[in-house]
Amino acid sequence: MVLEATDVDLTYHGLFINGAWCEAEKGRTFTVSEPATGLPLARVAHASRADVDRAVAAARHAFDHGPWPHTPPDERARILHEIATLIEANAHELAELESRDGGVPLRATTFNDIPLGMHMMHAFAELARRPPYEPMPWNDFPTLSWNFVWRNPCGVCAQIIPWNYAFCMTVWKLGPALATGNTIVFKPSSLAPLTSLALVKLIDEAGLLPKGVLNLVTGPGAEVGEYLVGHPQVDKIGFTGSTEVGRKIMAIAAPHIKKVTLELGGKSPSILLPDADLDKAIDGIIFGMFYHAGQLCEAGTRCLVPSSIYAEVVERLVARTRQLRIGDPLDLATDIGPLISHKQRETVERYIALGREEGAKLVLGGGRPLGAEYEAGPFVEPTIFTNVNNRSRLAQEEIFGPVLAVMPYDELGEAIKIANDTMYGLAASVWSQDIQLALEVARSIRAGTVSINEHHVLNPYAPFGGFKASGVGREMGVAGMLEYTEPTHIHVDFQQKREDKLWWDALLPPVEEA
Ligand code: NAD
Repeated sequence: MVLEATDVDLTYHGLFINGAWCEAEKGRTFTVSEPATGLPLARVAHASRADVDRAVAAARHAFDHGPWPHTPPDERARILHEIATLIEANAHELAELESRDGGVPLRATTFNDIPLGMHMMHAFAELARRPPYEPMPWNDFPTLSWNFVWRNPCGVCAQIIPWNYAFCMTVWKLGPALATGNTIVFKPSSLAPLTSLALVKLIDEAGLLPKGVLNLVTGPGAEVGEYLVGHPQVDKIGFTGSTEVGRKIMAIAAPHIKKVTLELGGKSPSILLPDADLDKAIDGIIFGMFYHAGQLCEAGTRCLVPSSIYAEVVERLVARTRQLRIGDPLDLATDIGPLISHKQRETVERYIALGREEGAKLVLGGGRPLGAEYEAGPFVEPTIFTNVNNRSRLAQEEIFGPVLAVMPYDELGEAIKIANDTMYGLAASVWSQDIQLALEVARSIRAGTVSINEHHVLNPYAPFGGFKASGVGREMGVAGMLEYTEPTHIHVDFQQKREDKLWWDALLPPVEEA
């Protein structure tokens, strides 16, 4: 099945509950607009608590009574491969929709985001083949027995994603949970829900999943999302978003002792070592920082540079960043699109003002690009600050916009100390030609992903997640799959005779002979 242009533009999108598209209670809707132009793109259902109740009940029923949790892993893998094939068949439409909806340049959505989503779904299909059975080491105390672990799906999963990287985030939240036999109530962000809706529509029209396995609700996080995560019939929460909301979700989950994985914010360092190949490293650091206009959780927002080459590196970073073209996300020549919203631009501009107040030196950007084409959208120039103190708010707080803080260091130990001196621990990159040294640095960084001579390379076979306030648990890879399972230890006792059993020695008196 292939999406028609009319499916993706200016249409009404309902809720997807128990295998059917439906209106929200009382027909409530909200409008989704294109960040670059401010023009409305679609009307989307605004779910009520009763709608969430229906979605959770459908997922509960599909889990408790449906075939999905017991479907053989190979069959689930086949279905996930089919979903990946649907993504491939609709890649062009999805890339354009992601660009319109999230303001992400078409270059990025065409060459990375959508193909990456497809690649990830194939990878999750492969990981789905993992048998739910795990052997255990031999253990003959207290009794001779055969032991193994059976991996059960967790149950009903509330899957919530942010607006950035929306398509890939959707794949992250659907693939592993489905692969392991869970049922889902999925909530995308109200700011960019359209590629999530398009993917669920593709899955539905291809008839790939039993009724109730995948449900989708839309609406504001504080209302719909909060009610969903607190729902007593939800077993597991998979949340990606800000650290602030992650804290709230943990608190909501606590009284129920719900299983939670949280993928939260970051303030990741790009650490340049003195021997780095500067032609590559400068481009890589700029990619790490300004891809998606800096609106990525693992963006390399703090750049640590040896004092000996600091002036040269700053000059080259500024010169190369100046060449980035800001503009219409649908133009393939555009490198940087708008931010997601005017509110987000206000936040970024507050941080730029704060950076100046804190004494950092603005060496590039800091304002809005000039020209009629930039008037409607929340565009911000790529911005670089030098002389940044790592304890300043500019260096410590997640800005989620195109603002790079460059800091000098004298010795490697100092660079590692600065890199780790943050409440976050999501990612880092190390730039060097000396792989031995780069590995040493990588192992000293307290972060979930460390790339050597790259940034933003998401690998679905690798665990992704954060230390410290960047999150709890991991997504993707075997570790990510296991987050969607509950292990049961099964003990098959080999002791046949009653007097060889544990109870004989440990508790019960000998049986009196008749
Ligand atoms: P956000 O926390 O405001 O919202 C994320 C999602 O949670 C949205 O769907 C929102 O509607 C919902 N939500 C909001 N309040 C809620 C509540 N009280 N209860 C339940 N749900 C609620 O984040 P955002 O602004 O959409 O996204 C940007 C943030 O996401 C950044 O902090 C970024 O670092 C983070 N992020 C992290 C990762 C990662 O993998 N670690 C990936 C992408 C984005």
